[in-house]
Amino acid sequence: MNKLIIITVLIVLFLIPASVFAVNDIKILNSTTKIDYPNSLTFNIKAESSSPIIRVRLLYKVDKMTYAPVFAEAWPEFTREKSVSTSWTWDMRKGSLPPGATVTYSWVIENGLGNKLETPEEKLTFEDTRYKWQKVARDKVNIYWYQGNRSFADELLKASQDALSRLAQDTGATLENPVSFYIYANYKDLRGSLVAPEEWTGGVAYAGFNIISIGIAPSNLEWGKKAVAHELGHLVTHQISFSPYGADLPPWLDEGLAMHAEGQQSQEDRDALVKAIEIGRISTLRSLSSPFSADAEEAYYAYAQSQSVIEFLINKYSKDNINNLLLLLKDGNTMDEALIKIYGFDLSGLDEAWIQFMMADSLHETAGETAVYRYITMAGQISSHQLASDLSFLSVL
Ligand SMILES: [Zn+2]
Repeated sequence: MNKLIIITVLIVLFLIPASVFAVNDIKILNSTTKIDYPNSLTFNIKAESSSPIIRVRLLYKVDKMTYAPVFAEAWPEFTREKSVSTSWTWDMRKGSLPPGATVTYSWVIENGLGNKLETPEEKLTFEDTRYKWQKVARDKVNIYWYQGNRSFADELLKASQDALSRLAQDTGATLENPVSFYIYANYKDLRGSLVAPEEWTGGVAYAGFNIISIGIAPSNLEWGKKAVAHELGHLVTHQISFSPYGADLPPWLDEGLAMHAEGQQSQEDRDALVKAIEIGRISTLRSLSSPFSADAEEAYYAYAQSQSVIEFLINKYSKDNINNLLLLLKDGNTMDEALIKIYGFDLSGLDEAWIQFMMADSLHETAGETAVYRYITMAGQISSHQLASDLSFLSVL
C-alpha cells in the first residue's frame, strides 16, 4: 500500500509542468517601461530565484493590422546571479512607431534548475509623452489634440463624421476598425515626433495602425478639416481592401476616394480638367496607377482627375459599386478584372467613358459650341490607347 502511494506521488510529481515549480522559485520583483518619444522604448526587469538565473528574454509585438502577429524576441545582457536586474532598449531611430501604437510584451526567465517563468502579457501605449493630450471621440474616430480649445477639436471631429457619411452614402464604404488622429499644433511639432521627417511632411498616415499624425494649427482649421477628411478616406479604403493577397491600391483610386471624402470637386477644378482633356494633357488611369509626379502642376492634375473619375463612377453607377470594387481587389482580382466584373469595362474603357462624360458635361454647360460637340463624337470612336495623343490632335481642329 505504501509503495503504491509513493508511486502515485512520483507520477504526480512528474506530471506537474515545470512552470508550476518556477512560479514558486523565480520571482519578478519589478517590471517597468520607459518611453523616450520618438526615439526609444526601454523595458526594465528585476527578478530573483533560489538558483542563478541563466536566461532572460523579452517577447514583444506591435498591435497592427497583419495576418501573422508574431512576437519578436530580445535578449538583454546580465550577469548570471540569483538576483538579476536588467533592461532592453528598443532603438526606434530606424523606424519609429506612431503615437498611440500598442505594444504587447512579456518576460521569460529561466534558472539553472531548468525552471521557467513567463509573465502574463502586458500592454503599453507608445504615447508622445512630451505633450498633454486631450481627447474627443465619436463612433470609431478618436481625436487627440493639445493646442486650441474644445471647439477646435469638435470641428475636426465633425469633419471626420461628415467624411464618413459621404463615403458611406456615395460608395458604400465604411470604417471597419477605430481610427486615431494625433493633431500636432504645427508642422514643427509634428516633425519633432518623427524620427527622420522630410522637410515637407505635413501629415503621416500609418495605415497598418489606423493612426494618423497631422500638424494643424488652430488658426488653420479650414485646411485641417480637409486634411482629416482626406486621410480618413485613405484609411477607410485601406481597411476594406487590406488582405494578404491584395496589392496596394492604385493611386488614382486611393487618392480619388480620399479627395471625395473631402467633398465635391470644385467647378474650377472641373473646368481645368476639361481644358486639359481638350489640349491632350490628361494622363491615362494606367499611368496614374504609379505614384503621382512630384511636379506640382502634374500632381494637381493627377489628384483632380482621380477625384473626377470617382465622381463619374458615383454619379453614373450604383452606389455600392465602389465598395464592391474594393472587395474584388481585396480578393486578389486585377484592376481590369474587377472593373469588368462590376462596370463591364476595363481601365482603358474607364478612361474613355470618363472623358466622354466630362465632355458631354461641358457641352451641357456651354450648349451651342459646335466645335466641342464634333470633338466628342470623334473622341467616342477612337481607341482608348490612342486617346491622349488623338485628343490633342482633335482639339486643334
Ligand atoms: Zn492622399
